[in-house]
Amino acid sequence: MLILVDQDGVLADFEHRLYQTWQQATPTHEHPGVAPHERRHFYAKDDYPEHLRDAVQRIYTAPGFFRNLPPIDGALDALQAMLARGHDVRICTSPLTLYQNCVGEKYEWVDRHLGAEWVARMVVTKDKTLVHGDILIDDKPHVTGARTPTWQHVVYNQPYNQQAPGLRLHWGNWQEILGTHPGWD
Ligand SMILES: [Mg+2]
Repeated sequence: MLILVDQDGVLADFEHRLYQTWQQATPTHEHPGVAPHERRHFYAKDDYPEHLRDAVQRIYTAPGFFRNLPPIDGALDALQAMLARGHDVRICTSPLTLYQNCVGEKYEWVDRHLGAEWVARMVVTKDKTLVHGDILIDDKPHVTGARTPTWQHVVYNQPYNQQAPGLRLHWGNWQEILGTHPGWD
């Protein structure tokens, strides 16, 4: 099976680093950070008042933000375990349109935490519907694009995507989810 795995919010912990960075800068802000468990919109800046959204964006577009994201617990082991089971696993990620720091640092992150073999497994695209696969594990509630995808979207469970229908996976239950679905083991 060809498994596409999203990077931010699935492998790399975007939410905690954004929150920590905002909190560290609190004296200069008039709004407390939105804690990861309180997040409700897919795009983090949409959980902040409109006049603060540029400040949120400045955090995640700054040099070093993507490079220094911590891995989500269990994510790296799960990728290796999927590969060991014989699956073809690719990291399928959409960079920010403000790409200057994001793109290179996404590759650096994978190299640092998973190594060169996984750098070669990266698919970087703004439209994931153009990528073939059997399943796409992604925290975005609705993944859309120019084509009807060949993959089935399995939602990676996060507080901000609770409205999304369908299968819901996290790194504590992924073997159960894949194992119980016909053809996915
Ligand atoms: Mg994501």
